[in-house]
Amino acid sequence: MAAPKVAVVGAGVIGLSTALCIVETQPSCSVTVLSDQFSPNTTSDVAAGMLIPHTYPGTPIPVQKQWFRETFTYLFAISNSAEASEAGVHLVSGWQVFKNTPKEELPFWSDIVLGFRPMSEAELQKFPQHRFGQAFMTLKCDCPPYLLWLEKRLKATGVQMCTRKVADLWELHREYNVVVNCTGIGAHQLVGDEKLFPVRGQVLKVHAPWVKNFIREGDGLTYIYPGIHKVTLGGTREKENWNLSPDPGITKGIFDRCCSLEPSLQGAQDIQVKVGLRPSRQCVRVHKEVLSQGGVKLPVVHNYGHGAGGFSIHMGTAKEAARLVEECIAALQGSSSRAKL
Ligand code: FAD
Repeated sequence: MAAPKVAVVGAGVIGLSTALCIVETQPSCSVTVLSDQFSPNTTSDVAAGMLIPHTYPGTPIPVQKQWFRETFTYLFAISNSAEASEAGVHLVSGWQVFKNTPKEELPFWSDIVLGFRPMSEAELQKFPQHRFGQAFMTLKCDCPPYLLWLEKRLKATGVQMCTRKVADLWELHREYNVVVNCTGIGAHQLVGDEKLFPVRGQVLKVHAPWVKNFIREGDGLTYIYPGIHKVTLGGTREKENWNLSPDPGITKGIFDRCCSLEPSLQGAQDIQVKVGLRPSRQCVRVHKEVLSQGGVKLPVVHNYGHGAGGFSIHMGTAKEAARLVEECIAALQGSSSRAKL
């Protein structure tokens, strides 16, 4: 069999990281990324990019933990390299604060982030409305720079990037041996996944270079995440809302909530408003299937539905999707050598 041709559909953090894992694990493949949008026009560009996992009720916790660990390890190495600045990956310390002590004082990811511990009384004095808190250090990806860095790495390995909207995965069967579906919320229409729904998120990106520590309310609704150049203020979670237009009332609400956590943000400047649709599902869909029409088969690997936590687990799911692609290629090579006998 000639070099297997793999199409990865989607150029958000999931598509780009999956394409990278495929070229790294199977260098004999020819990989193309097809997408109707690239950075800076994807949901992934809107994200804060913090590595604090979201919990997927339908995915076993040990699996989620493994995905988070793989992603943390991968990005920690980048943060300790000369690539860190270009890749927009950095360590950040801060606090997750609660008005009431949570039932689960040790989240499943507490031994993966660095230095996880309960906040001291002295630290809690900064947050007079809160009674409990956790301090830790985690990683953050600054989103457009990280996506551009992934694109640059892919191009350096010879991966083609093509702007193309795919109406039906089957349309790719003549050109490619394996198709990988990383279309985020686009999978709702592309593969008719009714279990996938948008959770609208609005954030502000502001200039406030004196803010160095992250602050997050335990329910995840209000957060202040400092990046290399901008601080992300959030947020909202509106289930089944497809509206991509910023809402000025919500902007004011986010700003006021964040100022009540960190009053110095009153001096923030250059406020930009962004909206994205989290591709949400009970469980992330990392799954292999074989499409078939008139006796012709097309292996497809799905990798979508990362909801509010795509950055936190992207390398873990990318590695798993790449293993599934490897299985598809092994099966194709097996059937092509049997056909020659
Ligand atoms: P996308 O980035 O949407 O990429 C999908 C790609 O598929 C796009 O390139 C699109 O153009 C392409 N596509 C879709 N349909 C088609 C088609 N038919 N044909 C061709 N191409 C197609 N996660 C974290 O871990 N930490 C955070 O701090 C965080 N903050 C967030 C804040 C906000 C406000 C939002 C909205 C999300 C946040 N997230 C965060 C979640 C994270 O952004 C998502 O989980 C992640 O971006 C999903 O990536 P994706 O590649 O699946 O989707």
